[in-house]
Amino acid sequence: MKLHLNNTFNKELPADKVIENTRRQVLDACFSYVTPKKTANPSLIHVSEEMLVELGLTKDDAKTNKFLSIFTGNEVLENTHPYAMCYGGHQFGNWAGQLGDGRAINLFEVAHSNKQWAVQLKGAGETPYSRTADGLAVLRSSIREYLCSEAMHHLGVPTTRALSLSLSGDEVLRDVLYNGNRAYEKGAIVSRTAPSFIRFGSFEILSARQNHTALQQLTDYTINHFYPEITSTGKQKYLDFLTKVRDNTIEMIVHWQRVGFVHGVMNTDNMSVLGLTIDYGPYGWLEGFDFGWTPNTTDAQHKRYRFGNQSYIGLWNLFKLANALYPLIEEAEPLQHILDGYNSLFKEQYETMMKSKLGLIQNNDTDSELIGRLEETLHLIETDMTIFFRNLSNITKEDSISIAIKKITEAFYNPLELKDEIKKHWETWLTQYIDRLQQETQTNEQRKQHMDGVNPKYVLRNYMAQLAIDDANKGDYNLIEEFYQLLKQPYSEQPQHHKWFAKRPEWARNKVGCSMLSCSS
Ligand code: AMP
Ligand code: MG
Repeated sequence: MKLHLNNTFNKELPADKVIENTRRQVLDACFSYVTPKKTANPSLIHVSEEMLVELGLTKDDAKTNKFLSIFTGNEVLENTHPYAMCYGGHQFGNWAGQLGDGRAINLFEVAHSNKQWAVQLKGAGETPYSRTADGLAVLRSSIREYLCSEAMHHLGVPTTRALSLSLSGDEVLRDVLYNGNRAYEKGAIVSRTAPSFIRFGSFEILSARQNHTALQQLTDYTINHFYPEITSTGKQKYLDFLTKVRDNTIEMIVHWQRVGFVHGVMNTDNMSVLGLTIDYGPYGWLEGFDFGWTPNTTDAQHKRYRFGNQSYIGLWNLFKLANALYPLIEEAEPLQHILDGYNSLFKEQYETMMKSKLGLIQNNDTDSELIGRLEETLHLIETDMTIFFRNLSNITKEDSISIAIKKITEAFYNPLELKDEIKKHWETWLTQYIDRLQQETQTNEQRKQHMDGVNPKYVLRNYMAQLAIDDANKGDYNLIEEFYQLLKQPYSEQPQHHKWFAKRPEWARNKVGCSMLSCSS
């Protein structure tokens, strides 16, 4: 197994001087050295072939004992120095102080094909940042992270990636619903990758502690390695950095809205400074299109991280990042100016994205109204987002309203509700949509092709992940492989997999893991 190691983070940034693995406040450092925990009986469940290639590894490499030992933390590769990163964060709107990698351990960085990858284990044991928890992860949450991060990548959504999913062979105690019912579950380890796992909270903690030297070091490091296009100097460099992070954050969230992804815990410690979807916890996929939906039961009361609020939270989090960067700039006005640009940029990109979902290319002043009315109409009866947009591309300029309605009826959870006022609303919207299509120069076929490239046919529906989890807990990993293969081509018809192009079954409506997820993982 040959990896081209190229460590930068633990070479260029200040390390914690304490090397004992004790839980504590880690001052004046960006990370702490830590050795992953040895596991009882590790075994590999799945490997991402695409990610192997990205790292310069082969399928044969993945079959070796060495691969298993390294990517479950049982062996530390020679000349590498694993570490946990120090960060803080705002959780559900409140400053939480130091958080850090409580159960993630960075192994090393790899350079391959002009790309840089940090490789990290999640669930490989405690670190100085573990606070009151055990540093471990269970199979259920590991499957969710593993499958979803690769699926998001293939959907074209900026995301951290996953390389492997393994069982540790250890048992892990968890209280899934935080109601006092603790039980042992299978422990698991995901190896995941990204150019970097630096978060908004990485800057916040240094700023909160008024460690401006380290803050500047971290910011310079981030710019040098991940924003090399920034060539300005002095304060302008840091302003340009915030602008780039703003733009990448907008791009990421617009993609989430496009595919119906709800992150679930957009705390600032879960916001990548590269604009990557990071930390797959109680995330979920929209079934019925609903701006008010959140999969996270921990957030059920205020629904801070609901689907329709993700854009606002992106801005809220950028405010916290701007505050953290303030000591490097010492002027509020230019920072404010960057943040002031957020809403109009978001709106513009959101509208462009929605137009692409509707197959509209030409400019038309009434398009934002058409989009707004569609969003209202989608809330009138439970309408499956994925099926609706996918089937919408079958509508032609020549269709009558009754034909058009037939083409989207499959998306309604209860088609009998489509009557009276609600039916009228749908008819009105479809009439306007078909009218609007007349202004497009593309043929019906061309439009369908464009639309099918932005409206996925297959996403990792919440109940699908749960089916894969239920089987895996019994030792059957076939569904993991099936979904992994299926979700590599989310925009392709794949008729052999057609059964996964279906509304959530009724049994899954209120089932734990399908519609209700907690942060317990
Ligand atoms: P999350 O919201 O899951 O991203 O986690 C918030 C914080 O809790 C981070 O600092 C995590 O590292 C930490 N954390 C979550 N689960 C565990 C665990 N099982 N052991 C140690 N730390 C954890
Ligand atoms: Mg996190």
